[in-house]
Amino acid sequence: MNTTLTAAQREELKALLLAARRSLESQMQQNRENLAPPAADQDGIEQGNVVREVDQALTNIDAADVKRIDHALEAMEDGSYGLCAECGCAIPFERLKIEPQTQHCVACKSRWEQGKGHAKTHA
Ligand SMILES: [Zn+2]
Repeated sequence: MNTTLTAAQREELKALLLAARRSLESQMQQNRENLAPPAADQDGIEQGNVVREVDQALTNIDAADVKRIDHALEAMEDGSYGLCAECGCAIPFERLKIEPQTQHCVACKSRWEQGKGHAKTHA
């Protein structure tokens, strides 16, 4: 298991992952504060619930992102970071720099997106 990344590049990506994780965590913290029961009277309750559902959805997305980042950091520890989970090729540094938590090379990702009915976008 070898990637084409140099130690310096890996360090740079690790810093990016940690920074992304921190900002997600503060975002989640903020969402959780928004989730606190509204101090509204009877009339405000319905509206409060709608806002809460939206915030809950946002929090779920953030949690999934944190998981992906954690997975990438773990992969960095065991040396599998930067390798495509699908075809095993080395993901270029340029791509990792834009999306450091990615686990797929461009070819596999676009194939995957096409398989999910991506073509419908222009319908
Ligand atoms: Zn691949």
